[in-house]
Amino acid sequence: MNLLNGEGKMNLHTHTCYCDGKDEPEALVKQAIALGFSVLGFSGHEYTAFDTEFCMSREGTQKYREEIGRLKEKYKDRIRICLGIEREYFGEGDDYPYDYVIGSLHYVKKDGVYLSVDNTAEIMLDNVEKYFAGDFRAYVELYYETEADVAKKTGADIIGHFDLITKFNEGGRYFDEDARWYKKAALAALAKAAENRPVFEINTGAMARGYRSRPYPAPFILEEIRRLGCPLILSSDCHDRAFLDYGFAEAASL
Ligand SMILES: [Zn+2]
Ligand SMILES: [Zn+2]
Repeated sequence: MNLLNGEGKMNLHTHTCYCDGKDEPEALVKQAIALGFSVLGFSGHEYTAFDTEFCMSREGTQKYREEIGRLKEKYKDRIRICLGIEREYFGEGDDYPYDYVIGSLHYVKKDGVYLSVDNTAEIMLDNVEKYFAGDFRAYVELYYETEADVAKKTGADIIGHFDLITKFNEGGRYFDEDARWYKKAALAALAKAAENRPVFEINTGAMARGYRSRPYPAPFILEEIRRLGCPLILSSDCHDRAFLDYGFAEAASL
């Protein structure tokens, strides 16, 4: 498989206290050096006006860029630091020349309302009840219809957690990931998202946080990504330095 991490240990999907992560960027740099990483990329959540709980503020984004720039210089002899961003499909975007962009979808938009797909299982259940009359299939299909355009909309180099919609679905609790309709929706979105051959990530974030026993995306999606010839990269979607390389050995073997 074409796994970009072949160059050495690295993680490009990293959150800090500038958004919803726990640590100062410098603490993560020190951890990455201790783990023998050759590259560490930061990918703060871009500002989303409709939900400010998880993202960087507008002023915070400016400070984040400055701080990563400072660390790049300070640690340049020990590790390569990259300044990235995790753009949101529904985010406002900007022209700042980041080193790379992760494009992600964390919401579906229904009746003009942004519904978080990865906040808590309770919130998801309430939303599906209230906005989809309890119909998980309609909810999931709307997610994938939107996900299909995530690369185009965000200008992503890397597509983040392609099947994030399965975060709370361990054991098929809410919908059947083996159902024909499910696979069809996911693969149709993938065919479109893969048009310009972006990099897809194998993301161990939900494993580190105890939600799932496998990384994103599911094996059938991973196989199709490989068949389509898109490169893959391992990432931990780290929100806590203790999990900077969580699940990497296991995910790499996939
Ligand atoms: Zn994300
Ligand atoms: Zn993330």
